[in-house]
Amino acid sequence: MVGVLSIGMSSMQPGDTHVSGRPPEKPAASVPPPDFRDVLASIDQQGRRRWLHVHLNGGFWRWCRVAVALVLIGFYLALPFLSIDGQPFLRIDIPHRHYVLLGQMFWPQDFLYLLLFLLIGAAATLLTVALAGRVFCGWLCPHTVFLEMVYRPLERLIQGVAARRAWAARLGRDRWRRVITWGAFVLISGALANTATAVFVGVDAFRWGLVVDPVQHPAAAVFFAVFFVLIMLNFVWLREQTCTIVCPYGRLQSVMLDPHSLVVAYDRARGEPRGKPGVAAGDCIDCRMCVAVCPTGIDIRNGNQMECVHCTACIDACDTVMTRIGRKPGLVRHDSEIAMAGGRRRIIRIRTVLYGCAVTALLTVATLALAHREPLVVSRLRTVVPPLVMAGEAVEPVIRQVVPLSLVNRTDHQRSWRLALPQELGGSIISPAVLSEIAGGARIEVSMVIDVPRSRFHDGELRTELIVVSEERTLRLPITLRAP
Ligand code: SF4
Ligand code: SF4
Repeated sequence: MVGVLSIGMSSMQPGDTHVSGRPPEKPAASVPPPDFRDVLASIDQQGRRRWLHVHLNGGFWRWCRVAVALVLIGFYLALPFLSIDGQPFLRIDIPHRHYVLLGQMFWPQDFLYLLLFLLIGAAATLLTVALAGRVFCGWLCPHTVFLEMVYRPLERLIQGVAARRAWAARLGRDRWRRVITWGAFVLISGALANTATAVFVGVDAFRWGLVVDPVQHPAAAVFFAVFFVLIMLNFVWLREQTCTIVCPYGRLQSVMLDPHSLVVAYDRARGEPRGKPGVAAGDCIDCRMCVAVCPTGIDIRNGNQMECVHCTACIDACDTVMTRIGRKPGLVRHDSEIAMAGGRRRIIRIRTVLYGCAVTALLTVATLALAHREPLVVSRLRTVVPPLVMAGEAVEPVIRQVVPLSLVNRTDHQRSWRLALPQELGGSIISPAVLSEIAGGARIEVSMVIDVPRSRFHDGELRTELIVVSEERTLRLPITLRAP
């Protein structure tokens, strides 16, 4: 297991502060201690979990993150209740095969829009990482926001500071505090599971908008149970391992970052050689506070590492230490690798220009596509019904065709629609021949029956179009008909 996970890098050493789990095993005298690149802080040499008891500290960046987190938590919890023009802000309706984003309803036929949104997200991510590093991971990701701003602070409130938590875990003490903590985690995870469920089933499935009614809405109850288990597993057990092992984003950052990207970095030139004040010449007094506050358990002094989520906790911790011993803050700071090496950081460079152009172009295309989006989508279904030759009393025989159609109303209000054929075709619509209605946000299937003179077919095939008249719009759907 260690071999599989060795892509992670960490400096948490056996016996370091605030690590609990099974006691670390002493390496044999002839075996050198593992390099920090070969182990994860949360997993020991035998592949067993080592529990990190992260020290929570204040500081300028911490309070900035708290302010951002409060806004985000409010937004996440309010998400199912937000609406635009009567449509949800976000709703993923799996049974009805559509989703609503920013008040706009999207169907499987709208794959182009989904592709555009994904491409915009990918290009924006590349641009953000190239400029500001993993700002999403440390500041905006729901996992980090809830873990660092809700679950961990709550744990500290109930169980005490990191050293006490580590001591209690090692000796099996404070069980009642852990029971209270678990109770609080269950309540919070339940609230989060409710929010996630409401995004999928809508708030109508909740009593008072808060509690799932399993009798009336069994599907909602299933969604809730799944989300609840996943959320508990994530925030109570996996924790930092979600970032260091599960999430692929951290693995990709090495190709997204370059020496000019803003990262959280240790000023090696200023800090080394590290040691006690007055003994070593560098500014780092080797107090390891930057390690104690790190939510992924790494030592930023080893350089930029895959586990670093750029949360800035180590900046606050080191600044506090520097201020306390009367030295200039900024030994650990937000900076680029090139600036740390004495060079000049460039914001405008080939990759940021290309990413910026890609984001602008994609946003323009998406805006235009949304502005010209047809309110009614008509598509031909794949079902094949064999055509018939109808001789009847007509001068020439006609070919009777059944054309199965799908109609989707993308708007939230009822629309009327009517089918027609090009006049020059000389065909006629047997059914449905009248004006019909389709409810807002609905999808219907229609089997259209048409007669077309046999002479219109060439080599048994006729390429024509179907006209759909819908209020102020007329759509033309190219279709191919075949004669028997
Ligand atoms: S907090 Fe600062 S002084 Fe202390 S070990 Fe980390 S870098 Fe060195
Ligand atoms: S090294 Fe610093 S910025 Fe990176 S995850 Fe740890 S505390 Fe956060």
